[in-house]
Order: sequence, then structure tokens, then C-alpha cells
Amino acid sequence: MLQINLRDKYLTFALMELKVFKFGGASVNSAAGFRNVCRILKKYRNTPVLAVVSAMGKTTNALEVLLKHYMANDPVLLIDSYRAIYETHFTVLRELFPNESHQVYGEADSLFDQLRGYIRKGHLYDKSKKTYDFEYDQIVSFGELFSSCILGNYLNLKGIPCSLFDARELVMTDQTYREARVNWEKTGERVNSAILPWIANSGNGCVALTQGFIGSDNSRNTTTLGREGSDYTAAILAYVLKTSELTIWKDVPGVLNADPKWFRNPKKLAIISYREAIELAYYGASVIHPKTIRPLENAGIRLYVKSFEKPGAAGTLITNIDHWDIPFPIYIRKENQVLISISPRDFSFIVEENLSQIFTVLAKYRAKANVMQNSAISFSVCLDRNEHVLSELIEELSLDYEIRCNYNVELFTVRHYTPSAIYRLTKGRTVLLEQKTRQTVHLVVK
Ligand code: ASP
Ligand code: MG
Repeated sequence: MLQINLRDKYLTFALMELKVFKFGGASVNSAAGFRNVCRILKKYRNTPVLAVVSAMGKTTNALEVLLKHYMANDPVLLIDSYRAIYETHFTVLRELFPNESHQVYGEADSLFDQLRGYIRKGHLYDKSKKTYDFEYDQIVSFGELFSSCILGNYLNLKGIPCSLFDARELVMTDQTYREARVNWEKTGERVNSAILPWIANSGNGCVALTQGFIGSDNSRNTTTLGREGSDYTAAILAYVLKTSELTIWKDVPGVLNADPKWFRNPKKLAIISYREAIELAYYGASVIHPKTIRPLENAGIRLYVKSFEKPGAAGTLITNIDHWDIPFPIYIRKENQVLISISPRDFSFIVEENLSQIFTVLAKYRAKANVMQNSAISFSVCLDRNEHVLSELIEELSLDYEIRCNYNVELFTVRHYTPSAIYRLTKGRTVLLEQKTRQTVHLVVK
């Protein structure tokens, strides 16, 4: 009895101490990247760490290309894209593991064999293919399996004891392929029964490693949580384990007031509230996956966003703060948007029945309405220009409505806007839609 109590106490303590880390694709896009992740983990020798890793660099995009050739039954391009992915991974492997008989080679080969077997079968027996979304998850999920295989072996090689947990055994979801919804209860049971014994049996300085982005459904098919979903995986794990913090290691110094790719000298926010982070992610700030914050807020888990290039620097803390002096406007830009305006063909007003019909179509194609506005006779909505579904969606709406599209527009969202912030974005451009609330302005510009 006493022993059980001590063990419980130890586990409670260890869980409070447990660090959950997420390393994104940019942190493992080269051999140097893997070495750097290893260096960061070495600094956390006195706590247990649960690390979540994404696919290497741009592997997910490369797998999406492979999937396209697979769906189109194009064997030549299919094998080319497969080889390119294989080469990227094996180039990194050869740099990290000079000993060619290291077990990692066999493990990586076997994962690549699984992928090859899968695409070959689908190619030969076209009828065995299922929907695009299903095939997407079975194929694109390999990126995370490859990267975690490399990282797990590399950490062990460098003296950081690492246990690899298959995320498909931990994160249980429904069958909404490509955007799977988490079964929190089952996931909680799985994660706790895997991770608690691991903590109890391994000392500090050990790393439990798992893949971001992927999970599995009731029938053990692989599912994925949506692009950039590894942040969300990390939040799910932190939530069900009730840890006190989560750190996302990024290629930027923290949450910035604009994307450095298009805005010179953006400024870092030292601390922001969960609410602010949800708004920013929702409107498209790519620094955090939109679903990540809610579970953290619910459980009061602090989220740190830190630079993997400067791991000692403070980064941004996202937590519960009631009062916040907004230091400056925050800019979010979404490129590649399309502004669609939808009007009844008979010049009648847009009424609730129309809106409900339009939303049913948007939901059917999983098109996210980034901004919307309606007038007496038309409803306008700004969507991501997703070639895969856009034409079908427009075709379906055209049955009952007059559709006008403005392609290649950009959507700017400014939180805590000022007149000069708006001027800066719209100077010399045409504003097609402007929508203001007290804290936020949306501008669709051409
Ligand atoms: N590898 C996936 C993606 O690129 C998941 C992630 O990176 O978070 O979307
Ligand atoms: Mg990624």
C-alpha cells in the first residue's frame, strides 16, 4: 500500500515536471537540424521529456505530390516522387550514422518498403483505392514515421535514452480523414497507460518520442489531424497528461507581430493571453495551429514558443492573463485567397434559407470561410484558393446562384489596428471588402 502511494506521489510530481516539447519540420530539415534537437534535449537532463516530432522539412508537401501521382495512376511520376523522398531521408541518415550497419538503416528501409508496398498495391488494383482523404492519411502520414525513426535512433546513439511511441497507438480519432477529431477519453487512457509506466521506469534525462499529426481510428486506419497538426498533437498529450507546460520549438524567436517572410523587422510579443493566441491562430497566423490553444487553456497549461536556433532566449509565453497592454498592431496575411460573391439568380434578397444552403455547400467541401459579409442581394465569402475543391464547390453553388469570383486576392487581418496600420496595407491597392470590429479589421485586397 505504502509503495503504491509513493509511486503515485512520484508520478504526480514527475507529471508536473514532465516537459512536453514539439519539434516542427523546420527543426529537422537536415542532419544539422537533428544534431541541434539533440543539443537542446541534452540541456534537459534533469527532467523527463515527451517530444513530438513532425515530418522532416518539406516532406509532407513531397508526400502530397506523391499522392497526386498515385491517385492519377501515373507510375513514372509516382516512382520519381518516391525516390526523391527516399533520397532526402537517406542523405540525412548517411550523415548522422556513419556506421552502415546501424539498425536505423533496416528500420528506415522497412518503413519505405511499407510505403512502396502500399502505393504499388493501389496502383495495380485501382479498385482497392478508397477516397482521396482516406488515401491521403495512409500515405502522407509516413513523413512523421520516417522522421521519428531517425530522431529516436539518433538520440540513443548520442547517449540520450529514447523510447519511441507510435502516435497511432496513442491518439485515437474518428474517421474524418485529413481532419480527424480526437476521442479524448480513449486518447487519455492510451496516453496515460503508456506514458506513466514509462516515467516510473525511466530516470530523468530520458526522452519519450512520438509523432505529431497522426493518429488512428477504430479500425486502426491511420488518420491525420490537419496540416501543421503536430502542435495540436503536443497540446493533446499535454492536456491528457495534465502537465504544467508545453514548449513549441520554432524557427522564429516567438510569436511575432507579423510574419518575417513578408514584414521587415517584426516585433516579438513577450506574453499573450490564450484568447489572443486563439484569435491569431484562427485568422491564420501560421505560428500556431488553430486547435492547439483550447485544450491548453482548459487545463491552464502554459505554452512557450521558443527558437530552436536560440534555445536559451525567452520566446513568447501564452497563458492566462486578464489585463494586457497591447503594445502594437499584429498583422496576419493570407495569400492565395478567392473572394466569392453569391447572389440569387432571381434578384431576390438573401434570406436565411439561402444562407443555410450556402453553408451546407461550404461544409460539404470543408471550405473555411475566412471572412464573410452579406448585403441585401449577395453574400460574399473569402476562401483559401484550394484547387482541389474550389471548382466543384463553385459548380454546385452555380446551380442556384449567380457567382462572381475574384481570384488572387489577399486577406489581411489586423488585431489592435490603428489608422496607420490600415494605411500601410492598403496604400495603392484596391480594397474589395473591409470589416471592422473593435479589435480586429479584415481587409480583402487586390
Ligand atoms: N508534417 C505535417 C505538416 O507539414 C504536420 C506538421 O508539420 O505539423 O503539415
Ligand atoms: Mg510541417
